[in-house]
Amino acid sequence: MNEQGQIVRDMLEIVFLGTGSGIPSKRRNPASIWLQYEDDAFLWDCGEGTQRQLMAARTSFMKINRIFITHWHADHWAGLIGLMQTMNMEGRKKALHIYGPEAERFVGDLLDLDYWGPRFRVVPHNVPFEGSELMPVYESKRFTILSIPVEHTVPSVGYAFHEHDVWNVDIQKAGKFGLHQGPLVGKLKRDGKVRVGGKLVTLKQVGYIKPGIRVAYTGDTEPCKNLEKLCQGVDLAIHDATFLEERADRMHGDVKAAARLAKKCGVGELILTHFSRRYTEIKPLRDEALKIFNRTRVAEDFMRIRLKKSNR
Ligand SMILES: [Zn+2]
Repeated sequence: MNEQGQIVRDMLEIVFLGTGSGIPSKRRNPASIWLQYEDDAFLWDCGEGTQRQLMAARTSFMKINRIFITHWHADHWAGLIGLMQTMNMEGRKKALHIYGPEAERFVGDLLDLDYWGPRFRVVPHNVPFEGSELMPVYESKRFTILSIPVEHTVPSVGYAFHEHDVWNVDIQKAGKFGLHQGPLVGKLKRDGKVRVGGKLVTLKQVGYIKPGIRVAYTGDTEPCKNLEKLCQGVDLAIHDATFLEERADRMHGDVKAAARLAKKCGVGELILTHFSRRYTEIKPLRDEALKIFNRTRVAEDFMRIRLKKSNR
C-alpha cells in the first residue's frame, strides 16, 4: 500500500516492525515483519508491542489475514494476544490464520487465557519443524509461502515468499506477428493463445517467463544446511544477526555467517535483523558484513521496502 492507502499492483511491500532480539530497547521492538502483496497482508512473527508498531507504521492491522510464527519464544509471539483482542474490539468478523510449529497447541493455549472470546475464527496451522525440505504452507493465486526447519533451541522454522513466475509478452516479438499493445495482448496472457488476422499466435512464440519475487526470512537460527535451501537465489534474504561473532553456545545467527550465506546463495540483497541490545552501534556489524557481501543493509524499525518484478 502506498502513503495514500492505495494498493500497488505487482509489488511486495515489507515493513520492519521489530528488529531487536530477546529484550526490546528504546530503538528496537521485538521481531515482526509486515508483508503486503496486493490486498493480501500478513506478518512474519508478532513480538510484544507489534500492534502499536503497526499503528505507528500506518499499516492497517485489520487487513492481516495470516500470521506466520517462526517459533514460540515470547519475543516472536507475545504481541498476538493484544493484537487479536484489538481485532475483536474493532469488530473483526473474518478468520485469522496463525501458522507455526505446534501452532494448534500454542494458539489453543492463547485462546484459553483471559476472559475474552474472539467473535472471529482463529485457525491454527501446524508447520513441520523437522526435515530438510522447503514446504508450501499457504498458497494464494499469485504467491506461495513456504517454510523450512532451522536450528534453534526450540522447534523453529524460516519462511519464504515466492511470487509465482508469470508469462509475459515480448512486444517486439509480438509485433512481428502483427500483435500490438492492447486488449489482445491481455487475452494472450490470459488464454495462452490468440487469433491475429486469422493466424494463431501462442504465448510460447512471443512470450518469456518472468520470474517472481522471492524473499526469505530465517527467524532465529544458528547457521545450518537448510538455510541454503531457504535463501538460494532469493531477491532478498532477511537474516538473524543477533551477534557479530559466531556464538556456538547461543543457537543464533551472526553477521559473518549471514554474509557468507548470502554470497554462497547468490541473493540479491541481504538485510540483517534481530540485533542483540548489547550493540548500541550497528555500523560495525554492517561494516563486517560488507567485507564479505557488498549488498548488505541493516534493518531498522519502520524500515520500508518495496520489491517489484521490474526491479530484477
Ligand atoms: Zn528471537
